[in-house]
Amino acid sequence: MTASIHEPARSIDVIHETDVLVVGSGPGGLAAALASARAGVKTTLVERYGCFGGNITQVGVEGFAWYRHPQTIDSEGIGREFEDRAVAMGAALPEPQSTSHALDAEAFKVVADTLVEEAGVIPMLHRWVVAPIMEGSAIRGVIVESKAGREAILAARVVDASGDADIAFRAGAPTIKHQVDEMMSVSVMFSMSGVDKAVFIAAVKADPQTYGDWAGDGEWDVTTDGKEDAMFSPFLRKPFKSAVAAGLLPDNLATIAGTWGTVSDQGDLTYLNLVHLTLDGTNPDALTLGEMRGRKQAMLAIGALRAFMPGCEGAKLRNFGMTLGIRDTRKIDAVYNMTGADVRGEGRFEDSIGIFPEFIDGYGLLILPTTGRYFHVPYRAMVPQGIDNLLVTGRAIGGDKVSHAAVRNMMCCAVAGQGAGTAAAIAVKTGRNFRDIDVVAVQAELRRQGARLA
Ligand SMILES: Cc1cc2nc3c(=O)[nH]c(=O)nc-3n(C[C@H](O)[C@H](O)[C@H](O)COP(=O)(O)OP(=O)(O)OC[C@H]3O[C@@H](n4cnc5c(N)ncnc54)[C@H](O)[C@@H]3O)c2cc1C
Repeated sequence: MTASIHEPARSIDVIHETDVLVVGSGPGGLAAALASARAGVKTTLVERYGCFGGNITQVGVEGFAWYRHPQTIDSEGIGREFEDRAVAMGAALPEPQSTSHALDAEAFKVVADTLVEEAGVIPMLHRWVVAPIMEGSAIRGVIVESKAGREAILAARVVDASGDADIAFRAGAPTIKHQVDEMMSVSVMFSMSGVDKAVFIAAVKADPQTYGDWAGDGEWDVTTDGKEDAMFSPFLRKPFKSAVAAGLLPDNLATIAGTWGTVSDQGDLTYLNLVHLTLDGTNPDALTLGEMRGRKQAMLAIGALRAFMPGCEGAKLRNFGMTLGIRDTRKIDAVYNMTGADVRGEGRFEDSIGIFPEFIDGYGLLILPTTGRYFHVPYRAMVPQGIDNLLVTGRAIGGDKVSHAAVRNMMCCAVAGQGAGTAAAIAVKTGRNFRDIDVVAVQAELRRQGARLA
């Protein structure tokens, strides 16, 4: 049995009160906070790290809309604004395989600050939410820990955008987490500097990789619709195979393979998605091991690229993400759980809060939206069971594996986030519970904010 101690009860200062409190500032939380503030209620955004942006800025996930092709019918609203604003602020570069821009993970920190300030969201960085404050089945706020100690924040409505459904889980809402070996992998993301762009691009063009080349071990063993197989993909496996054959990489690291994002004129090769680990992203001991093992593997991957990828001979590590990249942990058991049939069959819902193209990437499936097919994201997938005043948004919304492989994508997290923030604001204004909210009023405000719902 684990030893335990008794923590004595204590009084905690209430440092802040707000209408809508958003926890976590990834594409889901950032969009939720902006939407709520723009809908006219007092909105506070709490984030454990020192910048907003979640996986974008903290992990270095830059491929915001790499799925977009000429026929794609894409989401509109705050997600598109992230991309457009990043382009306008010099914080994005054309993405090599699509009609989109890849975000610059570092510069996007400033884009996010600007959007937060302009919308009048009250920013709270460096505060980690550790517990919900409950009154029966209703959440009334959260307890945060920081360098200032333990503090309380009260809110009329809370949006859990922690990615891991931390707040819903601790409030007692039912959540679902797969066995570790069934979870999507965890990655140490990194970027390199000193790459000779002209030589690198010439080598890519001389031997273009395709989605068909993804078939192989682990993370990259995917099934497609067939239509993707001959399409270009910024994919790297050959240099690592050569490194294994040359003894530069051990056999057990044949798992190193994956995608690159952009290469700048200054020689930055970014968003290197090459190192994949199997672990539970809600277990700090597993995370500790993963960070350390993953960094070692990344350094070996750089050695392999220097040896076997033209243009990388003189390159070096530029930076690791601030933290491991987590794809898959808890999802809520929502009032409505989305299904593979919804995302693959153009699901249509009366309570749609936005659309997302048929882009499915994960659990061994890759479908690109080259067709114009798209699905509705239903409001009810964000409503947890059994807890009042709480919505969950971003990648933790309710659904099965295949639906998660669609809704976890950053643009879709922004769609859900905008829907959640808007719903929270309307709930405050109308005094309604999330379960009996006036969805038509939420939809009207979303349309006013530029979201596409049908
Ligand atoms: C390696 C990797 C590559 C990926 N590639 C792509 C890609 O190319 N394209 C794509 O669209 N998607 C990609 N994804 C998926 C995508 O990045 C995520 O699914 C998406 O960012 C989830 O958004 P979110 O807002 O739900 O959560 P996150 O982006 O994870 O943000 C959650 C935020 O909450 C904060 N937080 C968490 N817990 C607390 C707490 N208790 N208190 C306070 N703050 C807290 C975190 O610090 C973070 O800022 C990738 C993911 C990974 C890991």
